[in-house]
Amino acid sequence: MSATLRPSPISATVDFDAQGVQHGFLKLPISIDTSAWGAVMIPITVVANGEGPTALLTGGNHGDEYEGITSLLKLASTLKPEEVRGRVIIVPMMNTPAAEAGKRTSPLDGGNLNRSFPGDPNGGVTSQIADYFTRVLVPMCDVALDLHSGGRTLDIVPFAAAHRLDDLAQENASLAGAVAFGAPYAMMMFELDATKLYDTAVESQGKTFVTTELGGGGTSTPQSLALTERGVRNFLIHYGLMAGEIEKPTEPMVYVDMPDASCYVQSEHSGLLELTVSLGEMVQQGDVLARIHDMSRTGAVPVEYRAQRDGVLIARRFPAKVGMGDTIAVVAEVVESLERAGSLSAPKPALSSAPKPAESHSSAPNPAESHSSAPKPAE
Ligand SMILES: [Zn+2]
Repeated sequence: MSATLRPSPISATVDFDAQGVQHGFLKLPISIDTSAWGAVMIPITVVANGEGPTALLTGGNHGDEYEGITSLLKLASTLKPEEVRGRVIIVPMMNTPAAEAGKRTSPLDGGNLNRSFPGDPNGGVTSQIADYFTRVLVPMCDVALDLHSGGRTLDIVPFAAAHRLDDLAQENASLAGAVAFGAPYAMMMFELDATKLYDTAVESQGKTFVTTELGGGGTSTPQSLALTERGVRNFLIHYGLMAGEIEKPTEPMVYVDMPDASCYVQSEHSGLLELTVSLGEMVQQGDVLARIHDMSRTGAVPVEYRAQRDGVLIARRFPAKVGMGDTIAVVAEVVESLERAGSLSAPKPALSSAPKPAESHSSAPNPAESHSSAPKPAE
């Protein structure tokens, strides 16, 4: 199919084959009320020094996730060629229109970039950006790191993650990078609908891929930025693009797995959210995670939402007002190891080797007062 697609309308002002540091743009032609012959200008930095692998570092896939945006803007301004072996391509704001608007999605076409892959050169602005990554930038790279966080509506414990993949060597290479990133948590992520994710576009090209969630609330903190910057540096060292020692977190890392949809607790009410558990706290199945209060009257009994599984609270809704369908909480399973049993010897089919319960997508445990959660991809 790709053979029949026209070339991307996006042009780069940087030369991807040149040595040294270049700051430039990916230019996407647009014609809008405020600019008839205009362009979306997506900042990009390329730092290259001799032979070596290529790393593609991205933030702002969602425009309100500032941990990645801020750390990559800083890295792009400071990374020197002599620090690099190979080539580092940095795009701090993949969805630049969304980032400029301070929003998750693009104000130009409403596009959620991470639901737009593999993209289309004849599609809307967001789809055209996705297509450029799929067909131009991703093929250039050996390893890719995409920095997400909770944005304005979620707060998430800091973790780096890999996915279960058909290619076990690719899965292990990605998992090793997620662990080397050195966030407080490392995750094996379960996506219920991965079809349109950037993650899938990268992984389907056989590339080593690490994703992250590094905080949230539509801001950053000194702590979240420090661990993001350390993680990016660790990632580059791990894959041989920088010299130096990997800086490990001071506390032991926690390994978490998300085996199925019962990790997600989604609201079937609107009202005022009262979380009763803090991020990083352990819970047991049946524990009350949250109450939703009716704001229209006094004297009403709040609705309780309970954990559908044992685990650790890894994500929570950030704003106190909650609506129907909003994810309130995510509980992940704490595990000893993220590697598949026997993965270093003979590769086996996932079903026989994965140390997890049979995947019950259909009916999660659903006590009367705890409301079922519909499958929803985490990204
Ligand atoms: Zn995101």
